[in-house]
Amino acid sequence: MPFPWRLCLMYRSWSGPLRRTAPLLLGSLPRHLTLSAPQRSSDFNSFVVRTNTCGELRSSHLGQDVTLCGWIQYRRQSLFLILRDFHGLIQVVIPQDESAASVKKILCEAPIESVVQVTGTVISRPPGQENPKMPTGEIEIKVKTAELLNPCKKLPFEIKNFIKKTEALRMKYRYLDLRSSQMQYNLRLRSQIVMKMREYLCNLHGFVDIETPTLFKKTPGGAKEFVVPSREPGKFYSLPQSPQQFKQLLMVGGFDRYFQIARCYRDEGSKPERQPEFTQVDIEMSFVDQSGIQKLIEGLLQYSWPTDKTPLTIPFPSMTYTEALNLYGTDKPDTRFGMKIVDVNDIFRNTEIEFLQDVLKEPQGTIKAICIPGGAKYLRSKDFETIKQFAINHFNQEVSPIFLKTSGSGKSPLTKLLKEEEKSALIRLMKVQEEDVLLLAAGEHKKVCSVLGKLRLECADLLEARGVDLRDPALFHFLWVVEFPLFLPKEGDSTELESAHHPFTAPHPSDSHLLYTEPEKVRSQHYDLVLNGSEIGGGSIRIHNAEQQQYVLETVLKEDVKMLSHLLQALDFGAPPHGGIALGLDRLVCLITGAPSIRDVIAFPKSFRGHDLMSNAPDYMSSEDIEPYHIQIKSPGVTDRKDVNSVICETESPQELVLPSLAKAENP
Ligand code: ASP
Repeated sequence: MPFPWRLCLMYRSWSGPLRRTAPLLLGSLPRHLTLSAPQRSSDFNSFVVRTNTCGELRSSHLGQDVTLCGWIQYRRQSLFLILRDFHGLIQVVIPQDESAASVKKILCEAPIESVVQVTGTVISRPPGQENPKMPTGEIEIKVKTAELLNPCKKLPFEIKNFIKKTEALRMKYRYLDLRSSQMQYNLRLRSQIVMKMREYLCNLHGFVDIETPTLFKKTPGGAKEFVVPSREPGKFYSLPQSPQQFKQLLMVGGFDRYFQIARCYRDEGSKPERQPEFTQVDIEMSFVDQSGIQKLIEGLLQYSWPTDKTPLTIPFPSMTYTEALNLYGTDKPDTRFGMKIVDVNDIFRNTEIEFLQDVLKEPQGTIKAICIPGGAKYLRSKDFETIKQFAINHFNQEVSPIFLKTSGSGKSPLTKLLKEEEKSALIRLMKVQEEDVLLLAAGEHKKVCSVLGKLRLECADLLEARGVDLRDPALFHFLWVVEFPLFLPKEGDSTELESAHHPFTAPHPSDSHLLYTEPEKVRSQHYDLVLNGSEIGGGSIRIHNAEQQQYVLETVLKEDVKMLSHLLQALDFGAPPHGGIALGLDRLVCLITGAPSIRDVIAFPKSFRGHDLMSNAPDYMSSEDIEPYHIQIKSPGVTDRKDVNSVICETESPQELVLPSLAKAENP
């Protein structure tokens, strides 16, 4: 029988008065999980042998004969069995009478996590024995027949949330891990969000869902691509980093509103929170400008936003790239809290502190500070030492704490050097309160902003670890970052330029003339969408003029244009003006669900080294299998397959630029 989505996935902890069931039993499903209400009901029981899901039965079903299928979650004293499916848990009474001996035998002997089918009647629990904390807690099933559909061998770990297991073990037995209520919630919510996105794009706004190839060729610039050998000697396909070229070609082809839930591939090695294959909500439109794309995305996210979360307010705020760097030291600011970077140059124009004087004489020299609220109360001198060391190790930049309204001034040499008027000016400008501490950095502008931006985030984590409420986990702060530069100095060779986004991004209309004279000064029509300090999307208005595109590729970026001749040619055949964006679906769902890692919102993710710990991919191939590809393997001899213990740390992301000793320190 159909029932509404809103009922789906109502797992609750069960700690009420128990007569015959164990108190910890349902503590294994502690989260209260509710998916958003749909417009229409879904029928979870069509086409299958069950009549109902385990989680849907209520007192309103009393007296009904039902057939349920599920996994044995728990059994107590050969009297009760708790059956589980994606939808919830139900108590089944194991019959004790002689005539039902065979049913009793099946239900008592089947190991935990075996899959069984039971048929019986929905009955009330005896008075006083209901469990109000369990959605099905008023009723139970009086079994008539039972069938063991498949027994379960001894499990590598119990399917209970409170059982701790390493992530490597979860990955090795991912199909078991997927049975957990959390993974069920994450993937079902993801599916529901995608469904709403499709609805919004296709049904409400006339977009066309078009698949593009995953066997493609190498694209200049951008991320490293995965290579696929072909049977033609020396020729290779590449897996696309994104459908970028194809979506632009679709515009030329007259599909003026395209979208795709697109799989993308980037061979970027071991980066934390990245996956070698990931999913984008990829969008392109013709005859659109930047604000059109932004409005579309705001509408899309608002429409598909889960109804159990705080509704989104649109339009999202916007900030230029330059502002973001100046105030937050990053192009993806976490705007859920303050602690912004403040320029304090004016306070030190006439300073007698020598190193500050020297910095201000430099052309890019600047003095900036952030204010750590309650820093003197929550951080210890050891923490400040770690902060200073961190800034030196990672940014080669000195950072000095300043204690202005605290008794900690003795710990900071710079505080002692400050003149009274400098101190009061700092207090005024930075709105310093009792127990606040400033972190001051003086040096080259970009470096100073980056180090303070990073320390801002680290100190926020630290304050939160010490019990300060800085960021509300229920809040979602979206932010557009706009007016990126079109080009940046090339990594590894700063005399050359590379695209800040990708080479198809159009220059800002008011800077187009600079493209041919001072390309490094050109701003672009590129926009990023940031959520709670993570980049979740990016896009741009594209160059649709073949000549301008060729100039950018050939003259500015020094790329081999032959590789893109198909695109250049297409632009010459009446390409419409167009633009688009791609949202990173994995990261978006990860942030919405509050999952600790994007791996928790992907059914079969790779480890951070790009391995599938379940199937052991990538794996060796026999020489016969390799032969058709005309390639020779130069690697050292084949080593033994690693077992799961030797890859145990694979899923753990490298700790990039973190202050572990700070985060773990106890309360002062
Ligand atoms: N293809 C771009 C990316 O993957 C997004 C876009 O420009 O639409 O970042």
